[in-house]
Amino acid sequence: MQEKFYTLFWTWDHRMQWSGDANLSLPAGEAGPYLKSSETFLNEYKCLIDYASQRQIDAVIVAGMLRKSHGGVRAAKKLIDYGRKRGVSVLPSAGTGSYDGFVVQTDDHYCLSSWLERHPQLAAIDPAGKPYTRQNAPALYLCSSKEENQQWLKQGTQWLIDKLEPEGIFLSHGRLEVCHCSSCKRSRDSLEGSDEIFKEFANLTSPMLQAVQGCGGNLMVICASEAVVDRATYTNTIPLQYFASLASFSWELSLQSLKAWPAGNTARRGKHLGQLHHSISEPNSSFGVGDFHRRQLLLDEIRSACRHAHGDSLSGLILNGEMGIHSVSNELNYLGFSAFCRDPQLTWEAFAVQHLSPGFGDPETSYKFLQMLQQSISLHRELVKISGPQERHYLSREAYHLFTEVARVTEAISGESQRRWAWLLGSIAEIVL
Ligand SMILES: [Zn+2]
Repeated sequence: MQEKFYTLFWTWDHRMQWSGDANLSLPAGEAGPYLKSSETFLNEYKCLIDYASQRQIDAVIVAGMLRKSHGGVRAAKKLIDYGRKRGVSVLPSAGTGSYDGFVVQTDDHYCLSSWLERHPQLAAIDPAGKPYTRQNAPALYLCSSKEENQQWLKQGTQWLIDKLEPEGIFLSHGRLEVCHCSSCKRSRDSLEGSDEIFKEFANLTSPMLQAVQGCGGNLMVICASEAVVDRATYTNTIPLQYFASLASFSWELSLQSLKAWPAGNTARRGKHLGQLHHSISEPNSSFGVGDFHRRQLLLDEIRSACRHAHGDSLSGLILNGEMGIHSVSNELNYLGFSAFCRDPQLTWEAFAVQHLSPGFGDPETSYKFLQMLQQSISLHRELVKISGPQERHYLSREAYHLFTEVARVTEAISGESQRRWAWLLGSIAEIVL
């Protein structure tokens, strides 16, 4: 029997853009504060969960799930229950010695920066013996070999599972540095393999996985490291034996790795997921395409990732889900993600007919939408690249023709379909003007 192929959305709480008051552009990663209300936190995630449920997305991962500013444990539990009732698992993300641990930006016992402020001797140190810090903030990372830290990671994981009763947990290793204390070095030397970062990841994750095992439930556990993903894609040398067999692994898939996907790499087979690290708030993310604005459509890349993932028997794919569907190109990305994860061989025409209609018009009009959007993106990219006035004139004329054709269709339809066509018209107008 064919194994289930999982589809998941990954998010940071403070970057969610699923409601009207969400136009607060915030920095990437854990540095961002949460500036919206606790109601908005719940409402935005409910919108995403509803959408995930409609599109048969299995789970939503939430980094920054626990913050005092948006309701802490109570709000997090509400979301998990909301998802459970709709068939969507809401998975809290916890940092493995980074990403502020279990509770973000508070004085909580399980907030990593607060823990290291109280116990500075437990911080990971750089080659010069100094704690890793950023802009005079408290130390960033845990030393993996200190017994107190191992206990803290284990107890924090137990606490998180007891408090939230989630259906799964995402263990995120967002650091590129290792601790240079003598005991961490000894510990890494005792492990096989040459990847220091991955060994550090294993040492920090180990107590967390012990806690999950101790809970006895059937939790989905995903271990993710930004640091090792691309290398992991290309090699068979990742020593997965250091991790409990209950864990799945999430590897970041860059555009580069999709273009040069090696055939038959068994390192990725089995309990591995690919993460398409694309986000409106991360213009330089590895899955972005450079010209980062609302025109960005990643359907090609998403379809390619789905085909590779199925071809190599990965157990699922993760896509950033922070951006709402008011952005039509983003809505198309999500529709493609949901459709191609289930049927990676689906043609563009079948995709348009089965998944875009009736929202984008009748089947024929929906297919036309897709073709015209793709055409506008290529025109825009060409215009950005060229400098000669003649070539520019020719491309502008092409864009103008496209504009008049889209305007004609937009006028002829109504309702929600018209909103999407009007959005396309607006995108092309930016090129023409
Ligand atoms: Zn250390």
